[in-house]
Amino acid sequence: MTSDATARRGHALRAAVDQNLLSPDIPVIGLLDVTGIHEAVAALQEAFAPPGATVTHTFAVKAAALVPVLRLLAGLGLGAEVASPGELAIARAAGVPAGRVVLDSPAKTVAELREALALGIAVNADNPQELTRLDALVAAAPTASPIGLRVNPQVGGGSIGAMSTATATSKFGIALRDDGAEEWVLRAYADRPWLNRVHTHTGSQGVPLDLMAAGVRAAYDLAERVNAAAGRRQVTTLDIGGGLPVNFTSDEVTPAFHDYARLLRATVPGLFDGRYRLVTEFGRSLLAKTGTVLARVEYTKSAGGRPIAITHAGAQLATRTVFAPDAWPLRVEALDAGGRPRIGDPVVQDVAGPCCFAGDLLARARPLPLLAEGDLIALLDTGAYYFSTHFAYNSLPRPAVYGYHASPDGSVRFALVRAAQTTEELLAESGAAESEALMGLGRS
Ligand SMILES: *Cc1c(COP(=O)(O)O)cnc(C)c1O
Repeated sequence: MTSDATARRGHALRAAVDQNLLSPDIPVIGLLDVTGIHEAVAALQEAFAPPGATVTHTFAVKAAALVPVLRLLAGLGLGAEVASPGELAIARAAGVPAGRVVLDSPAKTVAELREALALGIAVNADNPQELTRLDALVAAAPTASPIGLRVNPQVGGGSIGAMSTATATSKFGIALRDDGAEEWVLRAYADRPWLNRVHTHTGSQGVPLDLMAAGVRAAYDLAERVNAAAGRRQVTTLDIGGGLPVNFTSDEVTPAFHDYARLLRATVPGLFDGRYRLVTEFGRSLLAKTGTVLARVEYTKSAGGRPIAITHAGAQLATRTVFAPDAWPLRVEALDAGGRPRIGDPVVQDVAGPCCFAGDLLARARPLPLLAEGDLIALLDTGAYYFSTHFAYNSLPRPAVYGYHASPDGSVRFALVRAAQTTEELLAESGAAESEALMGLGRS
């Protein structure tokens, strides 16, 4: 699979140039391998396939908030995990059925909760105050929504602090190991017969698999205690979150979904005996390996003896990579102007972006064939979080994103997933319609 995906990407990079998707006037685009998306979904579904529990796999929309991507995933049977009104609107525009949508934000307004309950989408409450709001809403109008409680099993963090949601002091969910917390949670379920899910999401990139499994184990144990206390199967569904880490160092898909599913079957056997329905919320691990940013090298120069390539992909696209380079390194491929791998001895160089601040570097002191003006770079494994987590620095536009299907003979078909942001759209976002607004307020 890996070498096939590598070959498909190579074909697509050349074809993107041949078909003028990238040109001197269009210096950066995003590409998604549609075959790779199909393969990742199949791998997920097979890993959790029966015998065992009924599973609803949702896709964490923040990882790729692109309607055609969600539409494709919905067609393959996936749902959507949303965390804002915008993400919910995107999931609905993609036709994701309400029964396969989960709302998880930590800061839901009353209006958002009311809409979710009216739509019948699942809601996971983050904290006691939200649960009190839900009490009033559930009493006011009947709802088909499954409702759960997000718990923080406090199993610890991974290698990236900002991605670790199960630390002792994480802002997410109810901290289950705090004094008196479990008693409070058991009472909360006892008082609310409609509370029928337990949710946990132990973290994303950098959290080791055994820690993720320990978090799921804690959620499962809690559900068992709730049900024992209730004397019935009050908790019907365990939402085990997402978070499978991605290998950003090679084309190898590791860990794979089946590695995690196998570990879960060993750590939490009861999860798969059919008594609970399962919900998953993977994002990065479904799409990261399928995406590539392709950008032109506008200029090359040298400073202090260091060669520097100035490209059109920087902090506006690869925000985390630029601001937290140790946590989010990306592979950079050096390509010639035709999109073919550049041949040459490795030369230590910086690969910079277009933003006007000195730290806008995609790679520092990276040994690569020496890049030249008009060459291209490919940023690999950027299918999750890079295309829809744009940073509007310098008013740089969101680039176009294309899906591709590459045949073994090298022919490639592209489909536009999202058009590049236009100058008119940038102006609208910048208050252009209120251009006179400050002129009439007076001087002092
Ligand atoms: C971000 C997030 C996910 C997805 O995480 P990945 O690491 O992309 O798999 C799932 N659930 C919740 C609640 C999240 O916040």
